[in-house]
Amino acid sequence: MDSQNEYLYRAATHSKHALITGGAGFIGSHLAEILLKRGYWVTVIDDLSTGRFENIAHLVENPRFKFAIDTIMNEVVMDRLVSECETIYHLAAAVGVRLIVERPVHTIQTNVMGTEAVLRIARRYQAKVMIASTSEVYGKGNHVPFREDDDIVLGPTSRSRWSYAATKMVDEFHGLAYYEKYNLPIVIFRLFNTVGPRQTGQYGMVIPRFVEQALSGIPLTVYADGSQSRCFMHVQDAVDAIISLAESEKTIGKVFNVGSTEEVTILDLARKVIKMINAEDKLPSPNDERIQYIPYEEAYTKGFEDMKRRVPDIQKIQTVIGWRPKKNLDQVLADVIDSLNAQKFTK
Ligand code: UDP
Repeated sequence: MDSQNEYLYRAATHSKHALITGGAGFIGSHLAEILLKRGYWVTVIDDLSTGRFENIAHLVENPRFKFAIDTIMNEVVMDRLVSECETIYHLAAAVGVRLIVERPVHTIQTNVMGTEAVLRIARRYQAKVMIASTSEVYGKGNHVPFREDDDIVLGPTSRSRWSYAATKMVDEFHGLAYYEKYNLPIVIFRLFNTVGPRQTGQYGMVIPRFVEQALSGIPLTVYADGSQSRCFMHVQDAVDAIISLAESEKTIGKVFNVGSTEEVTILDLARKVIKMINAEDKLPSPNDERIQYIPYEEAYTKGFEDMKRRVPDIQKIQTVIGWRPKKNLDQVLADVIDSLNAQKFTK
């Protein structure tokens, strides 16, 4: 069978065929790559709003890969693509705190209406839907680690940051409602801070920003006093978790945290990045001139509210599918530094 016919045959049988919405994005492109390596057929749909074609350019020669540059709101295209697949990995969304603060209308519409379209079309073909959610849904909770069944407290609607969490909560409710009402197989995964090669600092993400700043010899922009903390997971660990959640029958209709539990303050992160890039013996002092402190109002908007700590409880995913992250923060940073260094020299 030639590859085109084989493609059509596989599409008709649906088996091991994944559709990734937002597949040209940072996480989606890694997911596509690993699924292909594991023998899946993969279709990507992405409108390239924040995704980049370069992220998937190395996959286009693979006969089991195809892509559509289009929005998931295009019903005709989506119907066709969903009809061919067994599982939809729904990652298309407006992401990144900076983008959300700057483009609130776009965020709300993309996240809520996009997921509505995916669920509605998936129901026609009973395709499994893996819904990407976010640790942002834990809002202002300060009782870490966050568990999937924790109560949620968000800030007021006058602070646009919280619109992202609210849209993702609607997506979760919507997915669970389709599961309850129509028996549509859905799984929700709440991604905590995820980093790795191909992530850009353009939308505000802290690690690529710090690494780019340190490589360019400019001060690292620590917001506020840097005492806020996060746990950073390598994108390969995230993708591993997402695929294992999709391959299990025990995860259907459930919500899972996916994240690292190694907590670091943003100030210590900046010090670590400086130390690693300059191969220094000691961490620089918090007063080092290579660190610049910037108030939140200046970095984002007036009245911006940050999350002080964000740590997942990963007991549930560990118990149900036996997943836990393999890479620690030093390995994550080394990988990001290597990839941004390589990019710098190829530019
Ligand atoms: N941050 C920072 N400097 C930057 C970018 C971000 O200090 O140049 C801080 C940000 O305020 C937050 C943390 O780093 O407390 C993580 O930010 P990011 O946007 O990567 O993810 P978030 O956890 O906010 O979704």
